[in-house]
Amino acid sequence: MISFNIPPYVGNELTYIKEAVDSYKICGDGQFTKKCNAWLEEKFNAQKALLTTSGSTALDMALLLCDLKPGDEVILPSYTFSSTANAPVLAGAKLVFVDIRPDTMNIDEKKIEAAITKKTKVIIAVHYAGVSCEMDTILDIARRHNLMVIEDAAQGVMSTYKGKALGTMGDFGCYSFHETKNYSMGEGGALVINNPAYNEKAEILREKGTNRAKFFRGQVDKYTWVDFGDSYLPSELNAAYLWAQLEVADEINENRLATWNAYYEAFKPLEEKGYIELPTIPVGCVHNAHMFYIKLKDLEARTDFIEALKKDGVNCVFHYIPLHSAPAGHKFGRFDGEDEYTTRESERLVRLPLYYNLTLEDREHVIDSVKKYFENI
Ligand SMILES: *Cc1c(COP(=O)(O)O)cnc(C)c1O
Repeated sequence: MISFNIPPYVGNELTYIKEAVDSYKICGDGQFTKKCNAWLEEKFNAQKALLTTSGSTALDMALLLCDLKPGDEVILPSYTFSSTANAPVLAGAKLVFVDIRPDTMNIDEKKIEAAITKKTKVIIAVHYAGVSCEMDTILDIARRHNLMVIEDAAQGVMSTYKGKALGTMGDFGCYSFHETKNYSMGEGGALVINNPAYNEKAEILREKGTNRAKFFRGQVDKYTWVDFGDSYLPSELNAAYLWAQLEVADEINENRLATWNAYYEAFKPLEEKGYIELPTIPVGCVHNAHMFYIKLKDLEARTDFIEALKKDGVNCVFHYIPLHSAPAGHKFGRFDGEDEYTTRESERLVRLPLYYNLTLEDREHVIDSVKKYFENI
């Protein structure tokens, strides 16, 4: 069976983990965490990047830093992972779900303004499949309504919008290094801070509410509990694993893109015949091949497709059940306007195997299986 995902492994991970062990520094913020932070800052031209224990906790930090009051509203798409919604719930906010665009599965920037009320404080832009949301429009709306913007770029590491790295355009950007993402540390993530006014608050929040970071830089002579905080710094063991992958980030990216492009070319004729729809990459967006999906006619067609491919040794999987239709979605939020695309598009989307070092042989097997399926229906 061809797996849907195999976590990336490039070869130097264990060497670096051993280095961390041998240096007697396995807790957070050692040499590997520092190297990863600096790499993210330099590569993406980010003001500040801090590794976290997950993409979810990077989102938690971002929302907590927005300083929301009970009853404040946060706008987000319903077609996303639960973590995008948990973070504003933790910060005490109400969720306002907005419909997606069918071409990218990203929040429909044209439907955001209608959802804004006096209580709206934040817009979360989720860059689905590593393809950017329409950031110029979203940032303009935010500026005019005095809202903060958080980019859930969990899937968007190495992608760009008009030349800018995803995660570096809003007030905060959140990356994930979970084993299902393009670069991994098992569980982990990073918070990108684009406004330097939040640097110190973020360090305190991440270090259990203490000014320990300032102490280590020699800026205060003893450290103390200065505000609410939690522990969001990952172990050096995880950071060492990630460092091995960031060193060869371009190679991983190119390898994934080669698979993505091969799928796209192979399936173009199926789209022309009207059997499937392929993903759209808008002008100005450069993506990172996080995901390859196709869309079938409807839920029934998708279920049949997944079963048929499984029988042929290919593991394809569907994706999010819209959050507004989930029990917690009813509890914590509301859908603004009409659900024109969120439910319909989510029911017909299916993801194909795509990971670093998927072999040519397996790639051809997937392509043949998909083609064979449509020849036979
Ligand atoms: C993976 C993911 C997250 C959560 O990241 P973790 O590192 O698994 O906590 C959040 N949002 C989106 C869109 C994701 O894909």
